[in-house]
Amino acid sequence: MHEGMIAQNLLAIILQHAEEHNAKPTAARISCGKLYAVNDEALCFAFDALAQGTSCEGMQLQIEHKPLQAHCKSCSETFNVDFAKPKCPNCEKGDFELLPDAPLILEEIEFEELPCNDWQKNKTHQE
Ligand SMILES: [Zn+2]
Repeated sequence: MHEGMIAQNLLAIILQHAEEHNAKPTAARISCGKLYAVNDEALCFAFDALAQGTSCEGMQLQIEHKPLQAHCKSCSETFNVDFAKPKCPNCEKGDFELLPDAPLILEEIEFEELPCNDWQKNKTHQE
């Protein structure tokens, strides 16, 4: 399954960041193009299942779907394609080429703040 593979890749990347930050991730924001056809629910479900027992357990995933963009051949305008009205919004012509779909990107990871964490306590004592 498509979403299962994406979830596995995401989890690996997030776990790596979590280790570097020495913190528990609580949420992540990802974005992808419209044609990527990621099913949000399937992806969250696959991620939840894979994250069981790791520091990513219980994390929230936010998925933003980016619109498909096109480049107008008449006036060189780059615009978001509205499939109900496939025209350049600048010159109203229909002569455009579609730009490659946006890839799946991990935009942001949020980490839990741990004020009572041992290493932070030690740090305070030193100050
Ligand atoms: Zn145009």
